[in-house]
Amino acid sequence: MWRNRRSPRGRGGLMGRMLDPFQQPPILKEAHALYDHGRFNEAAGLFEKLAAGARQRMGRQAPFLFIMAGMARVQAGQPAVGISYLNEGMQILAAASRWRAFWQTGQRCVAELNQAGYPAEAQQVEAWLQNARPPQAAQMPAPAAPGRPALPLKCPFCGGGVDPSAVDWLDEQTAECDYCGSPIRSEA
Ligand SMILES: [Zn+2]
Repeated sequence: MWRNRRSPRGRGGLMGRMLDPFQQPPILKEAHALYDHGRFNEAAGLFEKLAAGARQRMGRQAPFLFIMAGMARVQAGQPAVGISYLNEGMQILAAASRWRAFWQTGQRCVAELNQAGYPAEAQQVEAWLQNARPPQAAQMPAPAAPGRPALPLKCPFCGGGVDPSAVDWLDEQTAECDYCGSPIRSEA
């Protein structure tokens, strides 16, 4: 079969890989898996790296990666660092007026922190939510448009949690993963 030796970066080249939703950075997958297994210290280290990289290139995923880093640090027994990351993530969302994500993600953090036994940190996040006073509409879960499919609980590409009340929809059938940006469709 003929191969063009002059262009080693053909279809499988760098750009192809970057744009392929099936090729998420293994480090993100690993971070979510560590978190899910309660290995918060290791998960935090990876989420921190990912968050810093995403912030540098102004990626839409940056705030959610900071929030994961924060949740992991709190649960790893480093609440002060954790709160600073949570704050960073929430501030990026507020600065971009991504109010639904701000409110719904904040609510989720409050619930998870309470459930995990960190009421003081939960209260802190609750206070940010109250002080920011996002528009009323953002405080409602995303309206269930007719025909929108039920989404999987986790992103099939990176293993990140999928929150149907906060997720951005790319079209009627497809949502965007908060953590890796991959298109997510119904499992059915
Ligand atoms: Zn994902």
